[in-house]
Amino acid sequence: MNKKKLTLLGSTGSIGQNTLHIVSAKPELFDIVYLSAGKNADLLIEQAKRFRPKAVAIADESQFLNVENELKSVGIEVLSGREGIYELSERADVDMVVNAIVGVGGLIPSYRAISAGKDIALSNKESLVMAGDLINHLLAEKNAKLFPIDSEHSAVWQCLQGEKPETVRRIILTGSGGPFRELPLEKFSSITPESALKHPTWNMGRKITIDSASLMNKGLEIIEARWLFDLRPEQIDVVIHPQSIIHSMVEFIDGSVKAQLGVPDMKLPIQYALNFPERLPLKWENLDFGKISHLTFEPLDIQKFPAVRLAYETLKRGGTASAILNVVNELAVYAFLDRRIGFTDIPDLVEKALGALPIVDHPTISDVLQTVESGREFFERQIYSKR
Ligand code: NDP
Repeated sequence: MNKKKLTLLGSTGSIGQNTLHIVSAKPELFDIVYLSAGKNADLLIEQAKRFRPKAVAIADESQFLNVENELKSVGIEVLSGREGIYELSERADVDMVVNAIVGVGGLIPSYRAISAGKDIALSNKESLVMAGDLINHLLAEKNAKLFPIDSEHSAVWQCLQGEKPETVRRIILTGSGGPFRELPLEKFSSITPESALKHPTWNMGRKITIDSASLMNKGLEIIEARWLFDLRPEQIDVVIHPQSIIHSMVEFIDGSVKAQLGVPDMKLPIQYALNFPERLPLKWENLDFGKISHLTFEPLDIQKFPAVRLAYETLKRGGTASAILNVVNELAVYAFLDRRIGFTDIPDLVEKALGALPIVDHPTISDVLQTVESGREFFERQIYSKR
């Protein structure tokens, strides 16, 4: 059997490393042809020596010589900078591009990979949040497929197998509620980066961990689901499920609800995306129903977590509204981690940006990139005026 040839973008991150675990567990099925990283040169070098790709790319140009010195002697080509990542995204000699880059930096790699006609396993939800409509058109034009990695979307996708799209009444995305589910709103102003980085159930990269604490992650997932499953915003609901065992659900027109359950481990949705439609006989930890004493559900508190309301509003507004939400949120998350702003400033800045920046209807990819720039300028002005 031919191995599936993979480009793995963002190999040094949480999803990237989990993807390499799967490749290591099933070397007879997968072959790593290209790897890319942001700035973690040491880990990229280690991964390259182990998986022997044809080439690697590192976004941080200052690391180029360091990586090249280590890998040239073993015959691995080294590229660098944004262009280096873009070039690897569209190389033809692979079957699938796994995009595990975090944030805005993942958009153009997704776009370039699909433009080159590649199937894509997408972890970078920000690509769909910023340019879902454009990406869907491109997928259709290039006859390429997109497989979701996000656990909630993988759950919905698994529940939809064998079902007709017109029989879906709504989907119900579950969320753990994050570390501040029980914290009263009055105490939100004292939230620190350290407390926000302690997620109760998932172990993830820093940006998505903060997004999970503010529930902006759920907002991004609502937008992601709209484009992945062609749903109207009112067909997408959210319920808080602190145990993170049910990864999401689909309700059909007859009232029947299907759910997908599993341990909170990203290797499950990653392997489903990599090897769809076949499931892999992998031996990770299994669900032990003898140990699960209860599965609980509660409504989302929109007062405490305005990010979800903002996400619905951008979907209803359309155009580049969700791109504005995404870019300003991302900048605010890093500013919060750097202690330049408080936790509650994150949704406040997003809301301000949505009120202030022009929204372009039926955007092109250049319009989306222009929105990223306008979002950055807006954000810097806001931060400057706060000093
Ligand atoms: P991490 O921060 O752990 O990893 C991000 C990866 O992207 C790293 O390899 C990083 O490189 C690379 N990177 C960062 N910036 C750039 C850039 N500008 N250009 C190229 N590469 C870059 O993030 P996660 O793995 O947690 O998340 C990745 C994506 O998956 C996000 O979109 C997230 O929302 C989504 N996701 C993650 C889940 C999780 O469990 N972690 C669950 C569901 C979705 P380096 O480290 O070398 O700097």
